Amino acid sequence: MHLSRFNRLHFAHLPTPLEPMERLSAYLDGPKLWIKRDDCTGLSTGGNKTRKLEFLIADAWEREADCVITQGATQSNHARQTAAAAAKCGMECHIILEDRTNIEHSSYTDNGNVLLNLLHGANVSTRPGGTDMNSEMEVLADDLRTQGKKPYIIPGGGSNEIGALGYVDAALELLTQANSQNLLINHVVHATGSAGTQAGLVTGLVGSNSGIPVLGIGVRAMKEVQELNVLALAERTSEHIGIGNVVKHKHVEANCDYVGLGYGLPTDSMIEAVALLARLEGILLDPVYSGKGMAGLIDLIRRGYFSRDQNVVFIHTGGSAALFGYPDIFTDK
Ligand SMILES: *Cc1c(COP(=O)(O)O)cnc(C)c1O
Repeated sequence: MHLSRFNRLHFAHLPTPLEPMERLSAYLDGPKLWIKRDDCTGLSTGGNKTRKLEFLIADAWEREADCVITQGATQSNHARQTAAAAAKCGMECHIILEDRTNIEHSSYTDNGNVLLNLLHGANVSTRPGGTDMNSEMEVLADDLRTQGKKPYIIPGGGSNEIGALGYVDAALELLTQANSQNLLINHVVHATGSAGTQAGLVTGLVGSNSGIPVLGIGVRAMKEVQELNVLALAERTSEHIGIGNVVKHKHVEANCDYVGLGYGLPTDSMIEAVALLARLEGILLDPVYSGKGMAGLIDLIRRGYFSRDQNVVFIHTGGSAALFGYPDIFTDK
């Protein structure tokens, strides 16, 4: 898989570290836990969207765009990372945020990622929950075109076959690290949302015949829907790379038992996971994605899903800036 064939900018800090989590592994008395620090990708406070944006912004350049448009939930990490990448590349950035949670607290509506979007100089507007965000982006693009601008639309989460290349590359990077350390990876686990991360990882790990299964812990959709979203994008990504239909449904597994009441709404297991990682490993997770992903991993370990001699890699997809949108839920933990 020769990804240099695709347009790409280089602003991510790569390779991200692959580190053992010794204290968490001992505390849970389960498999050997590793963490791949994609929270440390650079640009603003880092996260998984940086890898996708290297390919997406390069495509925008190729098409001679002068501004980018994207959308997400109020505390979207993707929006914040897009704002930072656009700033770095000297492009105007337009963000449309959807209120998916009905949380009215000013920390949620004004702090965390919302504050950072403004610091990075993005133009931000908001819409009520349930708005058709894709058509809102089209309307905004038309508007910008009538002003003589050349907008480039980045889909929510940066999840299309171009953005997913960032996680095909991450899969190859992880394999290189594992091979050079003689580490046999039995499982990769991460939080899955708009599907680009899992689709890219699965395409890279299946396409290179690694034999490493990926488990996505869902944060929004139901299992069946999430798996089909990932599979469809993995198929498009494989086709884009030109490796044929290597990814089958059996390669795509999502567990959506840890969403709780809904996207972006706190759960007790997420709060426990965030507190545990902070206290045992000095690592900050986030309330919406990596906290729920880790909550799923912890629960599966407690249920004996992995054996003690296995190596499990958790991909830390970032998001800690969103902690500042949820200050109250952690204060008595
Ligand atoms: C976007 C995001 C995810 C989910 O990645 P997808 O590619 O959208 O599935 C996970 N964790 C964090 C912190 C994110 O911002």
